[in-house]
Amino acid sequence: MRVRTLAAGLIVAGCFAISMSGQSGHSNPWAPVDVGPLPPITSLTGSVWLKGDLHVHSRHSKESSNSSIAKIVSYSNSVGMDYLCITDHDNHVLGDVANNTWADPEFKSDSLLLLYGGEWTTTRGHGNAISAKPYDHQRLYDVRDQRDVVVGAVKKELGIHLSANHPSGKDHFGYSYDMVDSIEVWNSALWSKNANAIMIWDDMLSSGRKLTGRGGSDAHHGFPDTPDQATKNSAQAKSNYIGTPTTWVFAKARTSQAVVDALTNGRVSVSANPYAPRVEFYADFDQDGMMDMMMGDNAKPTGGPVRFRVQLTGNAAPGAVYTVNVVKDGKKFGTFQTTEKAQMVEFMDSPATLGRTYYRVEVEGPPVAYPQVPGSTVLTGNMIGLSNPIFFNFDPNF
Ligand SMILES: [Zn+2]
Ligand SMILES: [Zn+2]
Repeated sequence: MRVRTLAAGLIVAGCFAISMSGQSGHSNPWAPVDVGPLPPITSLTGSVWLKGDLHVHSRHSKESSNSSIAKIVSYSNSVGMDYLCITDHDNHVLGDVANNTWADPEFKSDSLLLLYGGEWTTTRGHGNAISAKPYDHQRLYDVRDQRDVVVGAVKKELGIHLSANHPSGKDHFGYSYDMVDSIEVWNSALWSKNANAIMIWDDMLSSGRKLTGRGGSDAHHGFPDTPDQATKNSAQAKSNYIGTPTTWVFAKARTSQAVVDALTNGRVSVSANPYAPRVEFYADFDQDGMMDMMMGDNAKPTGGPVRFRVQLTGNAAPGAVYTVNVVKDGKKFGTFQTTEKAQMVEFMDSPATLGRTYYRVEVEGPPVAYPQVPGSTVLTGNMIGLSNPIFFNFDPNF
């Protein structure tokens, strides 16, 4: 956190007239300031798009069915997933995820990057702990009812990525968002129930919290191998299963750590399913005609116009027309259209040189079939995918 002196606050207020209006004698020490030099933006080349699901339950979650880890891994491979985080309810094993999910002989794969994680299942709601390597999940479980300042300190010591799950409604994340790195803005195939999650995300972003938006199917039930293995919940697998939605990360390498880093940094987009187009969002902020930043990146505006580009990559439905909704600082900025052939939209805007600005996009259009989970397209409707924001003047020391 930035330490500001009273003198600095006065200087700031002096050069930012809006914060002074109507409040003679008051200088707000938290008024927007020049954030100073920002870290350089990572190159847009040399990374790789990897897709996966960050919220999946195996048999170690007691209410699940037909969800052995071997089945989950083999299915994920069959639909081309690159990474996966199995997030079993930690309360079902009293916090001992390490000796249950992670110790399962089936918890291994040559092709799929298996992240270490668990669903922190507490009286005040649910969050996903996500890590490239094993960590002491028991400590996170044990601290669940303590004050947020205590929980936050343990989270920091563990060095994990913590993510708020299904943040509205039942089991909503009832902790401070200051201790999380991401938020589940798209839980399960049923897109329409995520409206409040999107609202919370926009509120957090608008107030300076650079939180990544991610997806998670929250799948609990797999396909039965034989009819006698079917349960009353087996039908769910036809509508909501691994990949509904799919979270894409632009990772510097094909490693678990690179996946987690990309997730934390926000180079992330979420698509309806593994076969739906991926939404990529870029900007040329220095008017050199080349895209030089993408979603998750944070830059200082030059004061001039920025050219933004929304690109759809992957399978488009034949003849499809896509609607691109642009959100700026939590409010609707504009609506644009593109087609299956063009798969690209560009627009211009000039972000303010002082104070924060962010842009993010949601894309709607005809759904792309997910044959293994045929009922999912009905639940998802026309929602194709969403990007993370492109940021300007977000304070890295916030
Ligand atoms: Zn949950
Ligand atoms: Zn869950």
